[in-house]
Amino acid sequence: MDVKGKYEAVIGLEVHAQLRTQSKLFTGDSASFGAEPNTHISPITLGHPGTLPKTNKKAVEYAIMMGLACHCEIERYNYFARKNYFYPDLPKGYQVSQHTTPICKGGFVTIKTKDVEKNVQLNRIHLEEDAGKSIHDADENFTCIDFNRAGVPLIEIVTEPDMHSAEEAFQYVTEIRKLVRWIGVCDGNMEEGSLRCDANVSIRLKGETTLGTKVEVKNLNSIRNVKKAIEFEIDRMIAMVEKGETIIQQTRSFDADHDTTFAIRDKEEANDYRYFPEPDLTPFQLTEEFITSIQSKLPALPEELFKKYQTLGLSEYDSHQLCDEKSASDYFEQTIKYSKNYKAIVNWMAGPLRQALNEKHSNFNDLPITPKTLASLISIVDEGKVNFSIAHLKILPVLLANPKKEPLQVATELNLLQVHGSHDIEVWVNEVLAKMPEKVAEYKKGKKGLMGLFVGEIKKASKGKADPKIATQLLEEKLK
Ligand code: ADP
Ligand code: MG
Repeated sequence: MDVKGKYEAVIGLEVHAQLRTQSKLFTGDSASFGAEPNTHISPITLGHPGTLPKTNKKAVEYAIMMGLACHCEIERYNYFARKNYFYPDLPKGYQVSQHTTPICKGGFVTIKTKDVEKNVQLNRIHLEEDAGKSIHDADENFTCIDFNRAGVPLIEIVTEPDMHSAEEAFQYVTEIRKLVRWIGVCDGNMEEGSLRCDANVSIRLKGETTLGTKVEVKNLNSIRNVKKAIEFEIDRMIAMVEKGETIIQQTRSFDADHDTTFAIRDKEEANDYRYFPEPDLTPFQLTEEFITSIQSKLPALPEELFKKYQTLGLSEYDSHQLCDEKSASDYFEQTIKYSKNYKAIVNWMAGPLRQALNEKHSNFNDLPITPKTLASLISIVDEGKVNFSIAHLKILPVLLANPKKEPLQVATELNLLQVHGSHDIEVWVNEVLAKMPEKVAEYKKGKKGLMGLFVGEIKKASKGKADPKIATQLLEEKLK
């Protein structure tokens, strides 16, 4: 038996998401990314004596939104605590965080892997401020500090040790990124550090119920690296145990150049952060009205929309595609107000429209063609006024350049409307048959498969305008 098969991996993730507020968690300093270093640093951010922080209501609202989206229980009575430690990027010498009262408790996030669909249980989501940033490569001899990020609001989303493979962790972070973007609380940009993940990994023999000693891999900055780091850790730990070595609790870091991890420190006894309630901030009580008003502003969530799309008769694949990105589902939702041909809407969105968007690196929010215009385009195809390829290749480019035009107007102006009159179509039929006497003879001898060729030629001759049904009827009569 494969030795790996004896073991079960246990994984818990801590994801930090930077909230998309304009200002920081406790000051009016800008929370935006990428500014000149140390330009968003009022005395409050720096924790100078005599300054007074004040809680950003929007950040509290965003944390609650995420909690509601993850089915958490919302803590009504909240206070902030000081988590004391010394680090150069921490200007105050403590981080303001939540200690015993995380704003969201419990809850779950549903994930799907190729093997399972499951709810990953959450432990909590709490609010805290970010630290500044040490920059090691700006100067040869010194480490530089940028405090712009200090005090930017974060939520930390902590799971239970509830995942059992790198693939599950990969799907979980993918789902979290989709959710924070969907509800608009975080831009989900892992390269810029708006979303960061620490992975806690342990192994145990299958069937065992107690947890093994864990290691924590810090600051994974892409979803692929989360997966690679966990895969590496599981293999490393199994090899250690197989050799009879003992796993020690460690904090590790991921080496993206080699897809390996290395120890940064052994974790001795739990750090003593000397937590105490932040005396400069008043505790805050959330009212039912405040929570209800946030709930009512929350957009329809992907899981709910997925179910709806299934009931509309869309395939699982199509439903997933629509729920992958809010701008796509928004566009679909707008379009079904004008058209009931759901499958055609999805096909246009996944095909020609997506292609047009990809050329401009944008999403459905930026599509110049309105949902109503798309619905008209679909309906002139359904009514047989133009065929799909004319709509796609001839009309769509005109609409993209002139979004105010009506599809039918464009079809008329460019003389693209399909001809249904048999009298007009007969001209093309005769033309094609006259051009191909040998094929006609073969057909008459029994090679009925040539009908497709004749119809294709008539399409070409008419530039797609001849109604293929009428063309086929006429051909059949003439070739009898
Ligand atoms: P710490 O105090 O080291 O931060 P916590 O108990 O707060 O540890 O847990 C942090 C994260 O580690 C959580 O996501 C939790 O699910 C996960 N975790 C805890 N113990 C284990 C373990 N033995 N194996 C895997 N993950 C674990
Ligand atoms: Mg931790």
